[in-house]
Amino acid sequence: MAEFRCRRCGNCCRWPGHVHVTDREVDAIAAMLGMSPEDFIEKYTRLTEDRRGLSLIENELGHCIFLENTEPATCRIDENKPQQCRDFPARWNFPGWEKECAGGGEM
Ligand code: SF4
Ligand code: SF4
Repeated sequence: MAEFRCRRCGNCCRWPGHVHVTDREVDAIAAMLGMSPEDFIEKYTRLTEDRRGLSLIENELGHCIFLENTEPATCRIDENKPQQCRDFPARWNFPGWEKECAGGGEM
């Protein structure tokens, strides 16, 4: 995994499922966007299904709301993106992730 190189294809940001955000991450992202944490939570998050945390919402395509479908893909909150985003694929991934991830063949 040490040699993994992200190709910025954006597919991990298109994958369905939660993007968990902690309170500290909410504060940092809200400050970056010039919003109050309360406004950020209202506009950009939803409760996870177990109702124990917050997830970023998705856009109309089912992609993370902060994904810019540019080439290469970019994240609007890259400097403060949640730890979950930083941890893919080394610390978490999903079955078959290598087929979705442009860097997946470099393991
Ligand atoms: S916050 Fe950024 S890196 Fe994380 S899923 Fe959304 S677009 Fe991708
Ligand atoms: S799917 Fe893989 S190569 Fe594509 S942006 Fe995510 S980590 Fe990078």
